[in-house]
Amino acid sequence: MNYSIALIPGDGIGPEVLAPARAVLDAAGTKYGHVFTYVELEAGGRAIDRAGEPLPKETLEAAKRCDAVLLGAVGGPKWETLPGHLRPERALLGLRASLGVFANLRPAALLPQLRAACPLKDEVLIASNPAGKPGFDLLIVRELTGGIYFGERGRSADGSSAFDTETYSRTEIERVLRIGYAAAAGRRQKLCVVDKANVLESSRLWRETAQALSGEYPDIETSYLYVDNAAMQLIRAPGQFDVIVTSNLFGDILSDEASALTGSIGMLASASVGIPPENGSAVMGLYEPIHGSAPDIAGKDAANPLAAILSTALMLRYSFGLETEAAAIEGAVSAVLDTGLRTSDIAVRSGTAAETITGTREMGEAVLKYL
Ligand code: NAD
Repeated sequence: MNYSIALIPGDGIGPEVLAPARAVLDAAGTKYGHVFTYVELEAGGRAIDRAGEPLPKETLEAAKRCDAVLLGAVGGPKWETLPGHLRPERALLGLRASLGVFANLRPAALLPQLRAACPLKDEVLIASNPAGKPGFDLLIVRELTGGIYFGERGRSADGSSAFDTETYSRTEIERVLRIGYAAAAGRRQKLCVVDKANVLESSRLWRETAQALSGEYPDIETSYLYVDNAAMQLIRAPGQFDVIVTSNLFGDILSDEASALTGSIGMLASASVGIPPENGSAVMGLYEPIHGSAPDIAGKDAANPLAAILSTALMLRYSFGLETEAAAIEGAVSAVLDTGLRTSDIAVRSGTAAETITGTREMGEAVLKYL
């Protein structure tokens, strides 16, 4: 089969991590008989420098014509003083909204090879893990095109006060919950809705909507947590979670917290989809590592490319229904970690394991070797 992929490398480490990700996709294509055609597009800081805006119309139009979008990361200090609507990060919001990808799936699991890179003690990890081993395997489903990131905002005339607005409709909440339920059905049948319903009206609507919808999913155990408690529970007992569904803002924060438990933000991939990914049906999707452009390590061959590489596996699985190919990429990543090869962000803190510290390029080449 032929698939067209919009490639948006972006800024900072974005291009550095997308290069190995593309090479891995090509290798998977060669191995399994698929052709991936790339359309390279500009967004973020690069687009601001060239076209004066973070998300040029031609980028958006071209991206919409492709079967899926693979994005590196955008942003950096160079563009930090620009007004909000011209900042590189606006490209992300524009892309997500225009592509209609309202659900962001962020798997966070502790790989056994990276046990030592997780800051939690064995007893904490074991106590809450149904498998009785030090580990956890959860999926955060973050609402992506609503809430406070898209709400009305502004400043008073004298600039001394400012506001942002959290607005959600029942429809927006219900559709992302349905994606959460579909994911939970294929996992451990547990779904936790995270909100702040003790304080926020928008959260009360989240809870009411979830309570009404949960009746349609009797096989899934639905639970509820306030976000402050959820942040604590992630540290105290991460193994209790299967699927977490939450708002744009809470999902943004909780998924970074979860990433720290897996060892590094450089390990976490994400898929943003528009309709439930079921039975290999093709969905328009935007795939990206959850990390940003990491200006502190950009250009140093120090970025971990595994989150970007694992994002390609999610693309194959959710957009193209290529489960074998997706699993092959994930298997190759696991095999490389078995060898002890590590970028510095996932190097063991205790210094006891046999490890070789490497850079972005060599890590990408190692994955290719094991594919
Ligand atoms: P960041 O994710 O870029 O970096 C946070 C920390 O994690 C840094 O210490 C960085 O070195 C490290 N890190 C991130 N990715 C890594 C990787 N692959 N390998 C090793 N270490 C890695 O977050 P930030 O510093 O808050 O933001 C930097 C810029 O990125 C800002 O302009 C921000 O707005 C932007 N940003 C973009 C996205 C995106 O494009 N999706 C997401 C978050 C932040």
